Amino acid sequence: MNPVWRGLQAPAVVGGISVVAGWVGGASAALVALALGAPAIVAFHLWHLHLLTRWARASADADVPEGRGVWAPAFAAIYRRVRARNAYERELRNVIERFRQAASAIPDGIVVLDAANRIDWANARALTQFGLDLAKDRRRPIANLVRQPEFRRYVESGDYGASVVVTSEREAGHTLGLQLVPFAADQKLLIARDITEIEAVARMRRDFIASVSHELKTPLTVVSGFIETLQEADLDGPRRAHFLRLMQEQATSMQRLVADLLTLSALESDASPVHETRFAIAPLLSELLVDAKALSKDAHRVEVEALDDATVFAGREEIASAFGNLVSNAIRYTASGGSITLGWRVDADGSGVFTVRDTGIGIAPEHVPRLTERFYRVDRSRSRASGGTGLGLAIVKHVLLRHGAELEIASERGHGSTFAVRLPASRVERDTLIAARFANNDGGP
Ligand code: ADP
Repeated sequence: MNPVWRGLQAPAVVGGISVVAGWVGGASAALVALALGAPAIVAFHLWHLHLLTRWARASADADVPEGRGVWAPAFAAIYRRVRARNAYERELRNVIERFRQAASAIPDGIVVLDAANRIDWANARALTQFGLDLAKDRRRPIANLVRQPEFRRYVESGDYGASVVVTSEREAGHTLGLQLVPFAADQKLLIARDITEIEAVARMRRDFIASVSHELKTPLTVVSGFIETLQEADLDGPRRAHFLRLMQEQATSMQRLVADLLTLSALESDASPVHETRFAIAPLLSELLVDAKALSKDAHRVEVEALDDATVFAGREEIASAFGNLVSNAIRYTASGGSITLGWRVDADGSGVFTVRDTGIGIAPEHVPRLTERFYRVDRSRSRASGGTGLGLAIVKHVLLRHGAELEIASERGHGSTFAVRLPASRVERDTLIAARFANNDGGP
């Protein structure tokens, strides 16, 4: 029923009773009925008005009072609204909470800024990146907290198409890429990405290109100088031959460099997996011995000591090239008359260890950790003079990485060095075991 009609019911009843009372008992009876009925109706409505006012003033989660009579549907409608609003708010809170959780999980720092570039909110990563405390720093201008001049200029420029690179004030040695992203009407997101590794890779690439260019520049300058001399000067036969020999040497050193660069790039590329085979270690050591003697031109004593017979499962060519590099280094950094000793043993834990011991110039301890870096040399001119490219140990490192093997270096300046390659037990089988396996027709890995 329409609430207006419903609301008129009580006055109508009181009116009806008054009319009946007036008809039965006269005017005074009608007045008595009216005097009793009207205040009761007013009191009923005032009571509900009071309930409504009290509820409206109470906290937002106060229960909606129950109404009676004409008030019942109104209070029920309010109750339904409140319930719908509560559900909506709950859903909204869930959405906001999920958004905050997602924002916290993002590995980049995120700061929400208002129209005046003041901090509104920040995720957990940004709090550590910038040392923020939202309780204190909310509403503080971001430029007061991120003080690098590059960032200030970036904020003022209004051009946020690219990011700006700054060194972190909070995390030593870290580099941040900061980018502002405008959103909504006048707010901005500040995204702070840790680009330390990307920067390091870019720097390595730049350094590498500079080193390669530098390595090629010297022999090329020498060769072009000789070509000019040969063209301009009228040289006799022996001097001409001498110059051509020097040019040949430079060309050979460039060839070696390019060959090593290609080897390195192939080793680093995922497209060239290790061609693993099973091979006996003894013949490999015999080959290395022959090559070493040829390289030494009998200037050194070269020998193989202690040899535990074993079969290795690995890329033979790569392993031979890595071992060969160590042997060649031993010869090149050992003066004539010194001795080079090759060895192979299988340790108690099953790992196989190839060793090259020399009595050469040795290496000071501060250089040892850097020897496998590309183009790192203790003595550049000595390396060049002996035909080194500065890439040998970098190649060794990559070959060993691909085999899960390790390089161990023990050296003392002036007293020689021992370079050892430790192949994991999973790649090494003592020959006695192998014989037994083959007898059982079990080829192993
Ligand atoms: P290089 O072509 O210069 O020999 P490597 O990468 O093979 O380059 O070696 C890096 C540097 O390590 C060498 O320049 C040299 O200074 C040092 N080195 C390597 N092997 C030995 C060794 N057996 N004795 C002394 N120094 C060595």
